[in-house]
Order: sequence, then C-alpha cells, then structure tokens
Amino acid sequence: MALTGIQIYKLLPQTNCKECGYPTCLAFAMKLAAKQVSLELCPYASEEAETALGAASVPPIRKVVIGYHEQKIELGEEVVLFRHEKTFYHPTALALGVPDDFSDDDFDRAVKTITGASYERAGETITINMLALMDRSNETAVYVERAKRAVELSPLPLVLVSDDPDRAGAAAEVIGNHAGLLCGATAESVTAFARIAKSQKLPLVLRAPDLEALGSLVESARSAGVEDILIDPGFSAQADVLRHHTLIRRIALDRVGKEFGYPSFLSIPPQTDPREAALIASLGISKYAGVVLISDWRTWQFLPLLTLRQNIYTDPQKPLQVDGGIYPVGEANEKSPVYVTTNFSLTYFMVSTEIDGSGQPAWLVIVDAEGMSVLTAWSAGKFGGELVGKFVRESGIAEKVSHRKVIIPGYVAVIQGEMEDALPGWEVIVGPQEAADIPAFVKDVWLPMKK
Ligand code: SF4
Repeated sequence: MALTGIQIYKLLPQTNCKECGYPTCLAFAMKLAAKQVSLELCPYASEEAETALGAASVPPIRKVVIGYHEQKIELGEEVVLFRHEKTFYHPTALALGVPDDFSDDDFDRAVKTITGASYERAGETITINMLALMDRSNETAVYVERAKRAVELSPLPLVLVSDDPDRAGAAAEVIGNHAGLLCGATAESVTAFARIAKSQKLPLVLRAPDLEALGSLVESARSAGVEDILIDPGFSAQADVLRHHTLIRRIALDRVGKEFGYPSFLSIPPQTDPREAALIASLGISKYAGVVLISDWRTWQFLPLLTLRQNIYTDPQKPLQVDGGIYPVGEANEKSPVYVTTNFSLTYFMVSTEIDGSGQPAWLVIVDAEGMSVLTAWSAGKFGGELVGKFVRESGIAEKVSHRKVIIPGYVAVIQGEMEDALPGWEVIVGPQEAADIPAFVKDVWLPMKK
C-alpha cells in the first residue's frame, strides 16, 4: 500500500536542513507521497526509510512488455483505481482477430486492414496494437503458414491464440520476435504453455472460469518459472466482465493477493454481435483490461474505441495541449477573420477543422490556458477578457491583418466588454458556441459584415 505524506515524514530525519531542495522534511515527504521526487535527494535518509519506501514504490501490477523495438507495448504498472487519483500509465492494447481458416484473399485483406488503421486525433496518431491469429483450422501446418504470412504483411506483434500449446509453440518458433503473446493456457495446458513461454521468452495469457481458479493457475505458471503473465477471468455476461476486471485491479492495488498483480486480458468471443462487442470492448478499455481482444471485428468499431482509449489514458494532470501563438488555417491573409480560443488540443483541432471546412481561411490565435477547454479555462480565471485581450495585443496578429475584428467563442460572450477595454481599437465579435457552427457563422455573419 502506498505511504501517505505523514507516514513518510515520520521516516525522515525531521531536521529541515533543506539539502533536498525543499524547505522542510514535511514538504519533501508530500512530494515523495505524490511520487514527484526520489528519496535519493535526501542524503540523510535512513535504511529504514529506504526499505519502507522501496517496498511501497514497487508497482502493485507487474509491468509486462509485449513485442520489440517500435512495436513494443508496455502494460501494467498501474497504481490507482481512478484516473484522477494520479494517472493511468499504460493504455489498453487492442488486438483484433484473424482466423487462420480465412481464404488467402480474406486473410491478407484482414491483416492489411488492421495494420493500416491509423487516425490523427488531437495531435496524436492512434492505431490498433496487435493481430491475434485465431486457431480455427486445428491444423499446425495451416496455423504456422498463416503466422508466417501475417508477419510478412504486418509489423504488429502477433497474439498466438490456440488451445494447443504445441501449435502455438510451432508458430512462435517460426516467427521469432514477431510473436507478442501466447494465449490459451488453462489448468489442463498450463505446464505445456509455460514451457513454451519460457523457451520463446513470451508473456503468457492464463484463462480460468473464476477468480479462485485463476489465482491457482497463476501459482502454477509462476512455479513453472513464468514471470510475464496476463490474467483472463473468462467471458460471460457484461456485468461479469466489469466485476471481474474491477476486482482484479482492486485486489492488486490493495496488495492482498499477489497472484492478481498482473495486467488483465479480455477476450471477446467469436460471433458476438458487433454492437455488443464494441460495448464490451469499451467496458474493458474503461475498466482496467490491459489487453482487449475482439475476435470478430468490424472497421466501424476502430475509431470510437481508439478515441475512447485516447480520452481515458490522457494524463488528467497534463491535458493534451498545443503551444500558444498564431496559427494560419488555410491561405490566411490580411483580410482573413481572426478567431481566439484556448490551447486545449481537442479545442484547437476541432476549431481549425471547422474553419478549414468553412472555406474561409483564417487566423487562429491560441491563448495559453494551461491546456483547458474554453469554459473550464474561463472558470479557472485563465480566459478572462483582460487576459485574452492582452494576449491578442501582444501576439503580433495586428501586423498580419488590416482589419481590427476578433471573434471569441460564444460560450464566453461575457468577456466581450472587458476584452474590448484591453484591446483599444478592436471590435470583439461573439462567435458561435460550438465549433461545428463556424461554417454557418462565416456565411451568415462574417461574409455579410465584409460587404
Ligand atoms: Fe529533511 Fe532530508 Fe530534506 Fe534535510 S534533506 S530537509 S533531512 S528531507
């Protein structure tokens, strides 16, 4: 269990010598509790403190690495149940199934579709992480050939999904570093799977029908020498998915059951209704699954699931943001409108996309509001009239346009008067509340105004 600031303070020398760079031992203890500094900064820390903090700082969920080089995926090391308590570190990896009994064309098409799924959103590229080779042929030669073909077509790590450890092992041996995970070990097959996981140096997914059986399975795999483990509590009703993955996270964080200190694995079975599969996958992404495998997928599921994952795994203490300043959208010139908004990344990309779609190039003045959205920034005093007016005045936009009109977001119409006071000679126009209404605003307000 993590130590509180007061518990850590009691372990420190309490001399307030300031050599750690903090004015008091208590201030330093608070920073240690928030995991923002290391104990090494205190030259007088006792062995007792080092031992206590060392044990408390080991993440309760083991870090498991899948794949190699650019395709490396890290899972685990989570320390909280709720994102706002600190942050989530490693996003859920999405794996999509490709059955080995597909026709040649269907197989190639599926692999290429998964591999090519890539979207730019809020300044980041979001993609599917892994291919999962599903053993439906029950033939080792077919499975191995498909594994070879998959790695010819795709750099993504391959999850080898089979009930037959020898078949999965044969494929792993042939594709080497491209193999990402062995998936299929149960109570009956754990010994054989563990042998292959060790010889191929692959993480192993263990599956059991309930948490008690899963705990025993983990003990078996560990006794067989496997350290990199993912735990799959099986699939039944949606409510059980939520309950099992939440319980696994809770038990791990409370350090009451070491056998649950591993990333969890959610496998959505073949022939699940696509809408239900999307719903269950979103449950897994939201509630603690380290990997979500969708056996039968549809391309329309990709973007919503990747968007959800990006939203949940953004550090709440560091919102995605762009730099403050002036950004041209399209071929902006001296007659182009000037819009003002905050530097929250999503706001920037939504507004610039809608300006682009309006057909009217423009200047976008981005105010540094610590990555907050417009209303949040205004409520926090980071997007007030005086402040925004000063930012626009000092931004240099006056040298880029011949007019003196600036458009503010409709949600903060209240800053209009104060901003005009801070921007002598400028007319402050209240724009639309929603970015989606910018094209209509250009047509109905901006263009008639120019006539
Ligand atoms: Fe306290 Fe150590 Fe910092 Fe000195 S260096 S103030 S003893 S925590």
